Amino acid sequence: MTTATQADPNDAPVSRALGALHATFGFSAFRGVQDQVVGRVLAGQSTLAVMPTGAGKSLTYQLPAVMMQGTCVVVSPLIALMHDQLRSATANGIRAAALTSVDTDRAQTVARLRDGDLDLLYVAPERASQSHFRELLSEARINLFAIDEAHCVSEWGHDFRPDYRLLRPLLDQFPSVPRLALTATADAHTRDDILQQLGLPANGLIVAGFDRPNIRYTIQPRDNPQRQLTQLLAEQPGPGIIYAPTRAGVERLAQSLGASGRPNGRTVLPYHAGLPPDVRAANQSAFVASEDMVMVATVAFGMGIDKPDVRFVAHAGLPKSIEGYYQETGRAGRDGDPAVAVLLWGADDFARARQRLSEVEESRLAGERTRLTALGALVETPTCRRAILLRHFGENPPETCGNCDNCLNPPKSFDASVTAQKVLSAVFRTGQQYGAGYVEGVLTGQSSERSQKAGHESLSVFGIVLGEEAALLKPVIRALLVQDALRTTEHGGLMLGPAARPLLKGEGELSLIAQPPREGRRRKGASAGSTGAALNPIGDPLFDALRALRRDLAKEAGVPPYVIFHDAVLREIAARRPSGRSELADIGGVGTKKLDAYGDAFLAVVRQY
Ligand SMILES: [Zn+2]
Repeated sequence: MTTATQADPNDAPVSRALGALHATFGFSAFRGVQDQVVGRVLAGQSTLAVMPTGAGKSLTYQLPAVMMQGTCVVVSPLIALMHDQLRSATANGIRAAALTSVDTDRAQTVARLRDGDLDLLYVAPERASQSHFRELLSEARINLFAIDEAHCVSEWGHDFRPDYRLLRPLLDQFPSVPRLALTATADAHTRDDILQQLGLPANGLIVAGFDRPNIRYTIQPRDNPQRQLTQLLAEQPGPGIIYAPTRAGVERLAQSLGASGRPNGRTVLPYHAGLPPDVRAANQSAFVASEDMVMVATVAFGMGIDKPDVRFVAHAGLPKSIEGYYQETGRAGRDGDPAVAVLLWGADDFARARQRLSEVEESRLAGERTRLTALGALVETPTCRRAILLRHFGENPPETCGNCDNCLNPPKSFDASVTAQKVLSAVFRTGQQYGAGYVEGVLTGQSSERSQKAGHESLSVFGIVLGEEAALLKPVIRALLVQDALRTTEHGGLMLGPAARPLLKGEGELSLIAQPPREGRRRKGASAGSTGAALNPIGDPLFDALRALRRDLAKEAGVPPYVIFHDAVLREIAARRPSGRSELADIGGVGTKKLDAYGDAFLAVVRQY
């Protein structure tokens, strides 16, 4: 799904780019649309690249910046993100610096810029739009403006930043310098706006697909979150994030999982806006540096960190929207290794979300309702989850993906309309005030003092659900709540919703997804399947020794281990056992700088085993 002219791989600049790609990053080929974007930049053409997280966006400006004379100015909205990228760039031997309020080497950076001693200069939009910054740039040689998180320039985007609107005069002052705008999420409307706001040509749009094939999506009813998440932790040894909807929920889960869910002795820490800033910062940097830590967090966590080796993202409750779900799960598996996304949902999530709708302003109501319906369709579907996600973003994916729970274990759906009618009718006849447990009791004919007093035992619905049908009541009530045929009262009772009427009149249908038998479900687990962490040959003495060396080098350099080498590089080294530098250089991810800095140390470890 690209609209730009394909760059001819035989073009001189692109084959030159391949050489630089190998020397700097240690890769022998581009991924996805990277070559198209790099080709345009090297040809001096302005571009908007929409690439999903993990597709290697930053490489598309870092590589041209290394190849061209002068400096690339990178506009980025978050200091943490800038410093993260700076660290990785520097580790690859790229000359990079940031000009932010927290950088103490600003005078030195300015001098390096003037001397042409920088490939990359990172700045925030507020600084970039100041006039003295424009003057500074006119004293230097600028080869490219890279505008990261470019959706911030659009009021249509989900994260509008007014400072981005002030960038245009800066860009216009250097008309011959190409512009590269980058974003991971922008719908068609936002893309048009970005092109216009940043003065980019309409034919400069390159859109990579939204698919993240290495992420396995699994969505389950939340019947016992403690057990479900403990099991997830047992199956997924790598670093992971668990999102909980509230601060209190974060604290509770972090504590209970920290106490009971430590099968590998791993650390479980909380992260939310209510924690003191120093605790928050310490927990975040512990997570970034860790190879197996679990962070329990509100959705505020994850913005501005670029940890590539997150092996799972779990949601302990319903996300706010499909966009939010895609963005949050997208923090898993950025290194391209397999990763899992697990969502645990309950009917009460939908009930609460509907209650919140009553507080929404009239003008936003329709949009919010559509958002909730789309989420309902995602969690309830018996078909491919990925297909639903991709269609939501305007793509036309295949019917099955082979890497989501429904594709791997296709559920059977069956008609439960009759049971649904019995439930709705029991709710209606008992006066729309009793909770699910009581309604189930009436339907299955459980006599109690309460039902006797209320006279419910003489109702025609009393005891009309018998035998195996009783097991359907809970899932039917859950499905009715999702579809808005049932709602909860403020006291927790059930009442009829607008979708009840067609079902009661026999005009609607309620199909249920058959749950696999209990035993099978337990064995299959919350996640089903192995991730990159499981691919790591943990226990292989050579692999463990390579990891230990990586930890030592990382500590010495004050960077997270993945900045030294990704897991995939260590796996390759352990499998291929390179005997010398040239063999080591053949492994993807080993560029010239890293070969010089770490090659001998890793080769020495290989020789010992
Ligand atoms: Zn699928």
